[in-house]
Amino acid sequence: MHAQPVELDAASGFPTGQAILKPRKAQPFFNRHPWVFDSAIAELIGEPEDGAVIDLLSEKQRFIARGIFNRQSRLRVRLYCWDPAVPLDAAFWQARLSAAIATRRAIGYLAPGRACRLVFSEADGISGIVVDQYGDYLVIQINSRAMAVRRDELMGQLAELLHPRGILIRSEKGIAREEGIEVAQGLAWGTAPEGPIFIEEHGLQYGIDLLTGQKTGCYLDQVENRAAAARYLRGRRVLDLFCYTGGFSLSAAKLGGAREVLGIDSSERAIATARANAELNGLPNVQFRVADCFQALEEFVAEGTRFDAVILDPPKFTRSRHNVDEALRAYHRINRLAVELLEPGGILVTCSCSGSVSRDDFAKGLAVVAQRSGREIQIFEQRGASPDHPVRPTCPESEYLKCFICGVL
Ligand code: SAH
Repeated sequence: MHAQPVELDAASGFPTGQAILKPRKAQPFFNRHPWVFDSAIAELIGEPEDGAVIDLLSEKQRFIARGIFNRQSRLRVRLYCWDPAVPLDAAFWQARLSAAIATRRAIGYLAPGRACRLVFSEADGISGIVVDQYGDYLVIQINSRAMAVRRDELMGQLAELLHPRGILIRSEKGIAREEGIEVAQGLAWGTAPEGPIFIEEHGLQYGIDLLTGQKTGCYLDQVENRAAAARYLRGRRVLDLFCYTGGFSLSAAKLGGAREVLGIDSSERAIATARANAELNGLPNVQFRVADCFQALEEFVAEGTRFDAVILDPPKFTRSRHNVDEALRAYHRINRLAVELLEPGGILVTCSCSGSVSRDDFAKGLAVVAQRSGREIQIFEQRGASPDHPVRPTCPESEYLKCFICGVL
């Protein structure tokens, strides 16, 4: 099918330009991958502004998809729609947001008082925006120019669909730099919460500081994994490394009936919240410590301290494919040390949120840990992110979280 004639009215959602691909570059986009890098583009027709709608054409000028242009980023065009008749207008965004929200509602994730990821960027067909709901508040990450220029429109639609008390913006600085955007942080609509807000997860209460917490406030991708891990921890002495505000620790104690839990994180602020959360839930057998987890692991090994279970949920070790080997070495190191701390029959819950480390690589890494430590590892569960962080197979990068629950013999 040939391209629509170029229109100049940006609000219409029809294209103000066209990007023509180099020879043999079209297949991923016919296959609906949404990221077109500058290196794939041969020619630009028209003078699209950054943030404007443009069409992506094959070398032979066949329409492939409709997207949004950003000259400032190597990720030059983000694709949103593969039908030339559909404009990227207000109705389009509203339909995408509504569909994303409907899937969360359908699985019961929109219950009052709980937190949930409502919109997850590429996985919901809206590349460059993440929307999390925390009770009556929405927290948005705007990670693309495409979404930054439509910020007010999208917030208006979210307000209409969900009637929040306030909408806050928290964006990742690195991505904003890559996109050449500056997004004002903080309250963007309605009223801000005064102090922490409280949400419920698996019957536990958590205080969350939406303005200063990490990411959008807490790590919602691990919600189901916290409950799954808890099932293996009854009566055990648990070490929760990179514990942030204590999610795995509290679940281990309350849902899992762990005997004792020690959570460690290098962030004092996170540990202060974790302690408050343990108190809020009446869990005196959960203790927290501010420390570097790499050092803590080595010290425990050196002292001969042993645990019945170790949870490892470190931050991303790499953001790009170039440092995968370095990341794999870091995973090897912490998993190897964790295995040494475990009594025979111990439980290892080990996670990786580095998207460029594949599930397969991660599993192979565990094999090497088993070989070098002389211990056998059994994988009981290979898990991913909670279902409000879906994976879109046409955009494999939307799968990033691996959570393996293992036995160590
Ligand atoms: N398990 C947590 C999320 C962990 S996110 C949950 O379920 O909520 C990763 C955490 O690692 C962050 O809290 C960050 O503060 C911490 N961190 C990063 N580098 C660290 C280090 N070297 N030592 C200890 N903690 C670290």
